[in-house]
Amino acid sequence: AKALGESSYQFFEPEMSVEARRRLQIEAALRRALELGQFELYYQPRIDVRTLRLRGVEVLLRWTHPELGRVPPLEFIPIAEERGHIEAIGKWVLREACRVGKRLGDKYGTMLHVSVNVSARQLRSADLVTEVEQALRDAGFPPCALELELTESALIDDTEQSVDVLRRLKRLGVTLALDDFGTGYSSLSYLKRFPVDVLKLDRSFFLEQSLDANGDEFVSALVHMAHALGLKVVAEGIETEDVMESLRACRCDEAQGYLFARPMALPEFDKFLQSGVSG
Ligand code: C2E
Ligand code: CA
Ligand code: CA
Ligand code: CA
Repeated sequence: AKALGESSYQFFEPEMSVEARRRLQIEAALRRALELGQFELYYQPRIDVRTLRLRGVEVLLRWTHPELGRVPPLEFIPIAEERGHIEAIGKWVLREACRVGKRLGDKYGTMLHVSVNVSARQLRSADLVTEVEQALRDAGFPPCALELELTESALIDDTEQSVDVLRRLKRLGVTLALDDFGTGYSSLSYLKRFPVDVLKLDRSFFLEQSLDANGDEFVSALVHMAHALGLKVVAEGIETEDVMESLRACRCDEAQGYLFARPMALPEFDKFLQSGVSG
């Protein structure tokens, strides 16, 4: 099969090499991206469904490489996880998020709630709890203003260990959110098993066709159940007024999406806050 593979590789080379070369370039470039300061955080507001006031912000990682340009997180984060870079990158994200959260909170005299995405590998690393604690302390950022977003797939990997880490994080006083709910193996039992405070409903729930097919009743039932368990519900990827209507009817707590704002660089987010505070 090996000899055959070689000739078929040559046969497909023009196609394969484009993808393979890009992947290799990303792998190589990722190794120094952090030290070269190529990462930046973007900020996307989370809005109260009833009052339309700002409730918090999710930080989203952006990477710009001089030759590769802007590489989307969905492309480089899985590679960073595989190659073992995500721990260092994730640590930087945490520290930067706490630092900026503290600075903007002071500037506008409010407590800004900041959500940070945490990958499966970070959750499995023994240092996560210490790193979160240190990031908070060094920035002087209150634990109750920090939320960590975890995906279901991060949790199924190693249940015992995950539950233990989550408990220790909760003891620090941070909030935990279950991200992308409705995409993976979505088991409602997770909501009982893991000490999460917030349920983030994936944007696939809010595409027009999903809502037409009695999706609003489905979302409504989920919200009801989450509330009964004491969880707050955040809807992701909200792009239209129509969907906002149904979120109100479903009693969803918060919404995030292009309807309100795209993820913004810090100067732009600062302006966003400024207009919100004065208006
Ligand atoms: P996510 O955590 O589900 O983040 C939400 C994604 O939806 C973001 O994509 C955001 O830009 C996008 N989005 C927000 N509103 C809308 C909308 O109205 N319509 C549509 N179509 N999309 C919307 P982004 O920034 O490309 O990030 C993709 C994923 O990469 C994130 O999904 C998250 O899983 C991961 N990610 C981003 N930053 C980090 C990070 O710092 N650490 C880790 N571990 N993962 C990250
Ligand atoms: Ca997220
Ligand atoms: Ca999500
Ligand atoms: Ca319906």
